Amino acid sequence: CGVFGMFSPEPLDLAWFTYLGLFALQHRGQEAAGMCVSDGEKFHVEKDLGLVTQVFDERRLDSVRLANARVSIGHVRYSTTGSNLRFNAQPLTTRTNKGILGLAHNGNFVNAREVRNDMLMQGALFQTTNDSEVMLNLIARESHMDLVEATAAAMKRLKGGFACVLMSRTQLLGFRDPNGVRPLVIGQRDDHAYVIASEPCALYAVGARLIRDVQPGELVWIDRTGLHSMMVAPRQPTPCAFEWIYFARSDSQLDGADAHESRIRMGHQLAREHPVDADIVVPVPDSGIGAAIGYARESGIPFDYGLYKNPYAGRTFIAPTQEARELKVKMKLSPTSAVRGKRVVLVDDSIVRGTTSRQIVNLLREAGALEVHFRVSSPPIKHPCFYGIDTAARKELVASTHSIEEIRDLIGADTLTFISEQGIREAVGGPGLCLACFNGEYPAGTPLLNDVDKLA
Ligand code: 5GP
Ligand code: SF4
Ligand code: MG
Repeated sequence: CGVFGMFSPEPLDLAWFTYLGLFALQHRGQEAAGMCVSDGEKFHVEKDLGLVTQVFDERRLDSVRLANARVSIGHVRYSTTGSNLRFNAQPLTTRTNKGILGLAHNGNFVNAREVRNDMLMQGALFQTTNDSEVMLNLIARESHMDLVEATAAAMKRLKGGFACVLMSRTQLLGFRDPNGVRPLVIGQRDDHAYVIASEPCALYAVGARLIRDVQPGELVWIDRTGLHSMMVAPRQPTPCAFEWIYFARSDSQLDGADAHESRIRMGHQLAREHPVDADIVVPVPDSGIGAAIGYARESGIPFDYGLYKNPYAGRTFIAPTQEARELKVKMKLSPTSAVRGKRVVLVDDSIVRGTTSRQIVNLLREAGALEVHFRVSSPPIKHPCFYGIDTAARKELVASTHSIEEIRDLIGADTLTFISEQGIREAVGGPGLCLACFNGEYPAGTPLLNDVDKLA
């Protein structure tokens, strides 16, 4: 998912700015979009299933617009469970003794179910099965605390990987779990407006510049007196490696590491670890482009576009069923003449189910490729993600049930190799990284075993 929040001491068209911010974050979720806007008194909410441009047509955008808007938040959702129901759209709102609150949340709490059960025993009511409602309810329950204190208390109670924006009529808050698994950045505009967003591209979209990342374990809040901060838990940074491998936009810099440069370094690393004699390096667009550039530079084999990507097609994995995903590959990709009679190094960021990859190898062979050497810029994905990236349930992860040789055979490649974990660490740089979907070591905890349908 993607989150966005903005606070302005002077009236600004925050409905429009939030729309622009969400549009820049569309790659982080294409299933639903929503926003809240307040002018200090009124509090407007709109959300629905669909892309940002579909949910917010002119009429809908007008309906949330406020002439004296000061605070707003927004969300783009990507389903981690396949349940793309309208009531799961965010932001989620609730009325409390601190006034009406709106929350937009990226990630997953691993103990939401236990916390929810405890609260139910104490008489709490829930409208949805949504994790975010547990967070909001926890905040609402601390009626004797102010919003910042109550949010800090809720942050301490919930475990997992999360980055959130929260608003009241007069305040914007942003916070990140102690491991900083999910990204969150702060930006500022010349008119003293502040922005909090999942990635810097959303800041640039509204004319703000990047100030810094929200720190792991940090809670920041913005009101008429400016930007404030407090460390709620000691930072133990292990941000999600997948942000740099695949998820983040390539123009994003997160926790000091540039996504595009990291991907290029992954390609260099992959070429050093797994060289091959071939004629051209072909990326699977768009997610394999950075690593393919690096592979070509390191190996000296020329880079070429062997696959055309229809720019009007979205990210393939968003399609909910296998059949839909397979049809979408055809809608999205077709081979170019560059591969005819060539030995091809095909570079992609990841193999999840293996089905897309098989189709792509097939396309290249039909187009006359002599050999297809598949190079993957992430290690084999063997474990589910509990922190908000939908890499599928374990039984669907091809690398959790098959050896590399079996996967190679399944997708029909001549050779298949993956970058090492150490290769990823070196390419991204910085402190620790979450690599749990590759090595099963979950830095921010796991759900109780009986909760884990994903482990099946
Ligand atoms: P596969 O061959 O595993 O079906 O598809 C791999 C390609 O699709 C990669 O380019 C990867 O970016 C994308 N992909 C497919 N399914 C998923 C998924 O469930 N989650 C993520 N993050 N990426 C996926
Ligand atoms: Fe990212 Fe994988 Fe960790 Fe999930 S398990 S947060 S996808 S590195
Ligand atoms: Mg891809």
